[in-house]
Amino acid sequence: MAKHICAICGAEVGLISEQKLADGNFICRKVCVKKCMKIFNKVEATLDSVKSHIEQVEFGTKAWNQLFVPLMKTKKKEEKLKRFGKNGELYVSPSTGLVALTENRYKIFIFGKSTIACVYRIADLYGYDYVSEQVKNSDGKMETKHFCVMTFNDTPGMYEVRLEVRTREYEDMEKYFNTLFGIQKTLRNIGNTWKQQINAAKAVAGAVKAVKDGTLDEAQAEATADALNTMQYGDRTEWIAKADAALMLVNK
Ligand SMILES: [Zn+2]
Repeated sequence: MAKHICAICGAEVGLISEQKLADGNFICRKVCVKKCMKIFNKVEATLDSVKSHIEQVEFGTKAWNQLFVPLMKTKKKEEKLKRFGKNGELYVSPSTGLVALTENRYKIFIFGKSTIACVYRIADLYGYDYVSEQVKNSDGKMETKHFCVMTFNDTPGMYEVRLEVRTREYEDMEKYFNTLFGIQKTLRNIGNTWKQQINAAKAVAGAVKAVKDGTLDEAQAEATADALNTMQYGDRTEWIAKADAALMLVNK
């Protein structure tokens, strides 16, 4: 039988001990697959994305232990973590500007702790969409599973997280993040949204004029894109600053 080599650690692997990646590389199940989160789709991954994901988990686990764990028992209201997910595996920390996706490992200790994590900047969360799936349960009955597909902008490794949520939990999540980013389309926030739309409209009008005059430069094009982004995704400047300050404190 054909033997392959794990593209990460060099171990010899075979049919049962190997995981084939989308780019045709193989990695070993014994060590290297276990460095990835279970939710990470290895079949669709390339060697580069697996390596990025492993780095992401190594750093994320340190950030989890150093930043999130101390906040689990905080008495301060503004430091409280918000949990989502069917098993409560997603932790949002508005006080640090970070969000952690965790996975508990009960038997295997890779980084010396029983929880591994991917930690993201809240500011990079550009999509949180609802999807559902019909599955047959153990009684043979069809059952609906609910997911929130979270997409993190400009993130190496796992940038899409398909988080299973409880029934009707998605609505809470959407409302929560919309409120964080100030993009809630309710009467309460209409003033803010309206101001952003005006800024975007001004920037676009400026760019259109510049195109006509042949004077559109890169800086102006960028300002237009930024204004449009702000309108769609809310102003994230503060969230970026908060997250970067917190991440700087993580001992690698
Ligand atoms: Zn390996």
